[in-house]
Amino acid sequence: MMKDQTIRQQIIDFLSTQEMSAKQLSQALGLPEKEVHGHLAHAARSLNAGNNRLIIRPAECRQCGYVFENRKRLTKPGRCPRCRGTHLHQPTFRIGR
Ligand SMILES: [Zn+2]
Repeated sequence: MMKDQTIRQQIIDFLSTQEMSAKQLSQALGLPEKEVHGHLAHAARSLNAGNNRLIIRPAECRQCGYVFENRKRLTKPGRCPRCRGTHLHQPTFRIGR
């Protein structure tokens, strides 16, 4: 079992070099997606102390193109408020300035 600090450092290392969704992170780390969200939130807070920050590309509806701009939460939305579609691009994350 990895220590939380190790997991968060791995998340930071991944997202410093590529853009990934929570699902991709969960696969890369071998952790359930719901645990990834908690670590992401914590990693984002610890980044606030430095120069870099967590950059979130918001979720987007594949059916109508609606962008969930105002959604600052890290978890994925379940349904499009415009067309009610459920085929959504998950939000992706990277670390940069
Ligand atoms: Zn839609």
